[in-house]
Order: sequence, then C-alpha cells, then structure tokens
Amino acid sequence: MTANVQVIGHPLVQHKLTLLRKKQTSTIEFRRLLGELAALMAYEVMRDLPLHEVAIETPVGPATGHAIDGKKVALVAVLRAGIGLLDGMLEVVPGARVGHIGLYRDEQTLHPVEYYFRMPRDLAARDVVVVDPMLATGNSAVAALDRVKAAGPRSLRFACLVSCPEGLANLAARHPDVPVFTAAIDQGLDGKGYIVPGLGDAGDRYFGTRS
Ligand code: URA
Repeated sequence: MTANVQVIGHPLVQHKLTLLRKKQTSTIEFRRLLGELAALMAYEVMRDLPLHEVAIETPVGPATGHAIDGKKVALVAVLRAGIGLLDGMLEVVPGARVGHIGLYRDEQTLHPVEYYFRMPRDLAARDVVVVDPMLATGNSAVAALDRVKAAGPRSLRFACLVSCPEGLANLAARHPDVPVFTAAIDQGLDGKGYIVPGLGDAGDRYFGTRS
C-alpha cells in the first residue's frame, strides 16, 4: 500500500460515517451526512495548501493575513456519486472551480468507460482535488487521475470517503505521487466489486435511485 494514504480519523468524521453506512439511513439523511462529511474532510485534504501573506485593514488597524496561493482550488467530481462530496466541499471552498469526469463502470469488466470530461481553465495554476466517495477497484480513480494529470494541474490530490486495500493498491501502483485522503479502509471487495462492508451504492443512496 502507498505511504501516500491519510485516514481521517477525526471523531466527527467517524461518527457521521457510521450513521451514513447504516442501511436504515434515509436519502435525505444520507445527503445531509455526506455533505457534512465532505466539509469536514475538506479541512484535512486542504491542510497543506500554500499560503502567502496579505496586508489588510481591520476596523481597528492594519494587519497581516493569509490567503491561499495562486488561483482558486479546483474540485473535480467523478460522476455521478462524486457530486455528493463536491457539494459539501463547495460549502467550505465556495470559490473553487469545478470539473466533472463522467465514467461508468462496465459491469462485466469492472473497467471505467469515459462519457464526459470538462475541466476549468488554467489547471496549471490550480491545486486540484479529485473526489469520488467510494474507492473500490480503483479503476475509475486511476482513469480520472490519468486524465486530470495529463491536463497538468499545479498539484493533485484524491479524496474518497470509503476505500479498500484493492483500490489503494491500484492507486499506489499507478499514481504513487498522488496523496489519497479517506475516512475508512474497509475489508475488501465482493464479487460484484462492491466494498464490504462499505455503504452500498453511494450514487443510488445520494440520489434516491435504485440500480
Ligand atoms: N461504488 C459504490 O457506490 N459502492 C461500492 O461499494 C463500490 C463502488
């Protein structure tokens, strides 16, 4: 496994993740919890963004503050479940630019097929966080990172809520330079490529659809 994985063990994250996993959790609760988790994770994912000093005036006098370097952060959601993490992160980074990658999983091969790719301009000046709640086989994450990396971002991170050893090993082999942030490393995958125990289909639970 890569040394580049950070498990976000904060009690608030772990508590909310447990509620999110429960099969009784309704769509409305799932949405609210995923949004809250994403906002909490954003603090850790962006902890080391470079800052520079800025001179400001408070009502009392001059002060030196700090601002994030360069252009805005770019968040890239892997469709469709990535939208759940994206929305929560945008609550705390409302100025972030947003990219989308549409990938669906071929149920026979479990390999990703791309159907959409749209990125913000000036990626070379942006710190990019690719978000997808479930890191299962890792094939979609690898494909998404391949495409975003080719666009030349200033820096690149990957954030997921639940991961497993298979997906982390795949990412470590293909993108050892990309820091991975996750709230949990679960047991592994079942025969259909679902994370065990995981939380089921994150997209279906977030959007209230059924596969
Ligand atoms: N995608 C999901 O939504 N859940 C899994 O367990 C695996 C992939």
